[in-house]
Amino acid sequence: MKVPLLDLRPPLEELRDEIVEAVTQVIDSTRYIMGPEIDGLESEISAYCGTTDAVGVSSGTDALLLSLMVLDVAPGDLVLTSNFSFFATAGVVARLNATPVFVDIDPETFNIDPESLRKTLTDMDAETRKRVKAIIPVHLYGQCSEMETILNISREIDIPVIEDGAQAIGAECEIDGQKKSAGSLGDFGCFSFFPSKNLGGVGDGGIVTVNNPELAEQLRLKRVHGGEHKYYHRVIGGNFRLDPIQAAVIRVKLPHLNKWHKQRQDNADHYNELFAEAGLISKVRTPYVEHPQSLKNPHIYNQYVIRAERRDELQSFLSENEIASEVYYPLPFHLQECFLHLGGKAGDFPVSETAAKEVLALPVYPGMTGAMRETVVEHIAKFYQF
Ligand SMILES: *Cc1c(COP(=O)(O)O)cnc(C)c1O
Repeated sequence: MKVPLLDLRPPLEELRDEIVEAVTQVIDSTRYIMGPEIDGLESEISAYCGTTDAVGVSSGTDALLLSLMVLDVAPGDLVLTSNFSFFATAGVVARLNATPVFVDIDPETFNIDPESLRKTLTDMDAETRKRVKAIIPVHLYGQCSEMETILNISREIDIPVIEDGAQAIGAECEIDGQKKSAGSLGDFGCFSFFPSKNLGGVGDGGIVTVNNPELAEQLRLKRVHGGEHKYYHRVIGGNFRLDPIQAAVIRVKLPHLNKWHKQRQDNADHYNELFAEAGLISKVRTPYVEHPQSLKNPHIYNQYVIRAERRDELQSFLSENEIASEVYYPLPFHLQECFLHLGGKAGDFPVSETAAKEVLALPVYPGMTGAMRETVVEHIAKFYQF
């Protein structure tokens, strides 16, 4: 049995007529830039995430870049972030000629380790600390970072927090005993509608959530080249607009998102059971969920990521048997060629370096069959018998 990493067909088939109708309406309206689909999506996403505002943008990457631009991050500034994420998280910092400062991760959740974050800050002299303009925790694989501590740290030093929630729209955690959603925790929440995310469009797209109408206004201004009135520019922005066709598609899909989250969670639970039944827990570590199980979405499993002994050999074996898997991510930021000039070397961030050698994402998409998951685990069991 062939098992793909992702199949976008099941959710498409479910909604195909509605999606085609929504796209057709945008085309027939001849309103191709901004307009009612963007406004509609922005209010629906802010309601979903529990924020006052949301600002549609061209991608998850641009959501991060635009947030940093609103904070006026400039050359010489520092931005603290996890060194184990998709490249965009650190790339946007470097694109503004600011410097990313990497922080190691927690070995269980793969999210930024709050104690390492604190240590990175306390190890800085006062002059250096003044250059820190933002902290970007990443809610990796679909689970919120340990935001309670991160927010306490950020408040102590009065530095804004930009959540990279690209993999975690709808993920929940508790702050001071209150249920909260990704995107409503920090000062900015950045999301991606890249097709492989839990809420994916039919192309690129993204959105920034904020709990502050003034910040929303600045995001909106810089989304359109900083021009409040056409052709008069108060500040410098860019073209960061969301395509209304993407907005229309996302609006059709949003009401189904929690159901798809649930399917991913059920798939993850099934994997956990299968691994336990197969006696594989000594070879394979299943995902750790940090947030209370009483929450509806303590983890939304954009990825179901195991730690595996002899990971590369396992991945090749699965691939030979037509089972797809992926390594997110094989190289932490401090060892990326483009960041070597920052002085990073092997051994600097041991937790993320080990994670990069052990993580393996297995298919967990909504619509995959139970038989597929059984095949995946059977093959993993077979591999470790050798
Ligand atoms: C996907 C992703 C992004 C970038 O989103 P795009 O829409 O592809 O630009 C940023 N950060 C993380 C963690 C992601 O997974």
